[in-house]
Amino acid sequence: MPHTLLLAEPRGFCAGVVRAIDILDQLLEEADGEVYVFHEIVHNRYVVESFQARGAVFIDQISEVPDGSCLVFSAHGVDPAIVDHAVSRGLRVIDATCPLVTKVHLEAKKAAREDFDILLVGHDGHDEVQGTKGEAPERTSVVDSEDDVAKLRATDKPIFVVTQTTLSVEDTRGTIDAIRNRFPDAEIRNDICYATTNRQLAVKELAGDADLVIVVGSENSSNSVRLVEVARTMGVRAYLVDGLEDIDASWYEGVEVVGLTAGASVPDELLDPIIEDLKGRGVVRILPVVVAEETVEFKLPAELLIADEV
Ligand code: SF4
Repeated sequence: MPHTLLLAEPRGFCAGVVRAIDILDQLLEEADGEVYVFHEIVHNRYVVESFQARGAVFIDQISEVPDGSCLVFSAHGVDPAIVDHAVSRGLRVIDATCPLVTKVHLEAKKAAREDFDILLVGHDGHDEVQGTKGEAPERTSVVDSEDDVAKLRATDKPIFVVTQTTLSVEDTRGTIDAIRNRFPDAEIRNDICYATTNRQLAVKELAGDADLVIVVGSENSSNSVRLVEVARTMGVRAYLVDGLEDIDASWYEGVEVVGLTAGASVPDELLDPIIEDLKGRGVVRILPVVVAEETVEFKLPAELLIADEV
């Protein structure tokens, strides 16, 4: 049975998630009634259910929001046409989009203005990709692999490349190389964020010494799923769990060293019961595997800061 636990650092909440959660938290504190949120505020079941219990209502259509209500856009960003729709209905709109996602929107918007065709490297259908594509839908193609690049139609326009923020650093390299080969003059931005990069580095580091890696995160969390993939590419058994309840004790059979990490939308409190459970199973050494120190912080929207200061 396991005797050692390796804890990835950094793990769990990133600055964009902290900001989104603080925004919704503050709005719920102030609100008389319900606060509506377009899509999940962050992709974590526990976080979403905790907010639902406090009066947050997660919706997928602006038409579901009653007149005069407050509507929050999630950390993943949103298609500007949806923002326009909400504003045209006179809703109180608060944008919790991570500033690093907003940066990608601005890059895409500028490229479209300058007559580029845009390649958006990312997972089609993901909330963030839908939002970024919405900046210039008629000139944006989503590519997720080298095969997708090969299938692109020829164009006489210059090419501008942006990426989803939560991709696998390794997999994206292959897709970017394919773009470079096919369109040597393409202007390429790598928008994979610091939090995604650091969490992947940390899990790679600990997977080198672990017999089993547990990643805490929800199935629809892109960056959490990537952490499992990174561990598996290191040849280690790895599982994605929402919490202790998803862990099958048989996973620990024959395992001496367990690695533990969490996606960027996961509160650290979800790891505590797993750590306690492992101690009960004989873990006597808990060692941090530190690859980076994160000091990034994002301010709340001015509207909320002012309300906070009054
Ligand atoms: Fe922002 Fe990166 Fe966190 Fe996404 S994972 S919310 S882009 S900091």
